[in-house]
Amino acid sequence: MSRVYNFSSGPAVLPETVLKKAASEMLEYGEYGMSVMEMSHRSSAFTDIIDEAEELLTGLMNIPSDYQVLFLQGGASTQFTMIPMNLMTDNKTIDIIHTGVWTEKAIKEGKKLGKVNIIASSEDRMFTYIPSVEKLHYNKDADYIHICYNNTICGTKYNTLPEADIPVVADMSSCILSEEYDVSKYGVIFAGAQKNIGPAGVTVVIIKKDLMKRADANLPSMLNFNVYAENKSMFNTPPTYAIYISKLVFQWIKDLGGVKEIEKINRHKAALLYDFIDNSKLFKSNVDKNFRSLMNIPFTTGSKELDSLFVKESEKNSFANLQGHKSAGGMRASIYNAMPVEGVESLIKFMEKFELER
Ligand SMILES: *Cc1c(COP(=O)(O)O)cnc(C)c1O
Repeated sequence: MSRVYNFSSGPAVLPETVLKKAASEMLEYGEYGMSVMEMSHRSSAFTDIIDEAEELLTGLMNIPSDYQVLFLQGGASTQFTMIPMNLMTDNKTIDIIHTGVWTEKAIKEGKKLGKVNIIASSEDRMFTYIPSVEKLHYNKDADYIHICYNNTICGTKYNTLPEADIPVVADMSSCILSEEYDVSKYGVIFAGAQKNIGPAGVTVVIIKKDLMKRADANLPSMLNFNVYAENKSMFNTPPTYAIYISKLVFQWIKDLGGVKEIEKINRHKAALLYDFIDNSKLFKSNVDKNFRSLMNIPFTTGSKELDSLFVKESEKNSFANLQGHKSAGGMRASIYNAMPVEGVESLIKFMEKFELER
């Protein structure tokens, strides 16, 4: 057995150099004679790791000094609760653009805490596009607008941000660090790590410090952004090993030349696959061309039988996790930062061969 090309939507492929580095440090990290997993989170060795992780991420995303970076737990899903809890004012109202499963979950959780206005939706065409953000009507009393920047399941993404005078809260779980974003345009960016950052278990939240003042001091400590900020993300034991691997991934991106460079590679990888699909007689993409994701590329033959044969054959050829999400069917190739260009090229060769044999 050798390593396969893993197209999983998450937990997802990690850079091989990162895994090798982690393996080399597994038994003894530096001079400390123990694994990072065995260390106190209060030790200077670990404090250095988390500080460095924050510093690297701040550099990579050019995060302004009036923003707070937090390493939390509970996945991106906890943020569907934590963000409204912290950011809703007495208005208790939020606006949402509904673009698929992940905003549906945000809507459901938001409704438990206040009023949720769905100000636009792409449900009419099975979430295959992003509603126009130019002519949106925002509610005057909305505390913020929630969007899912990249839709992991349907394979759509925004190209322009809503120009609202209320803060934009963006779920970037499946696209953070894949292309350059102007952080200053957002109130909150959040992402579960397991797609484009590191292992499952840590969630990154980047939040404008101003907005943190909205939180009621009586919120449960574990759900209060301020408590984490005051304790440098160590109010309780943080997911230490996940943060360590994330740090290695940040370093890997930096060594590649930063987000600007990785974006170029991502655009190249996505273009290769979309070009092939668009010119194929067998495979097709149902996503509106203007809103195609760089990270998650769903495709289908149009036949359930052929789709499942394709997935079966792909597994025999060292490609893993190409089946689509259960709600979408078909196939999906998730080509996150850590998927090498060769992985996409090999997939295309395999698709070509599969098509020729039909
Ligand atoms: C995976 C995903 C989530 C859920 O993340 P968890 O860490 O499992 O809670 C939320 N939003 C998007 C866009 C995702 O891709």
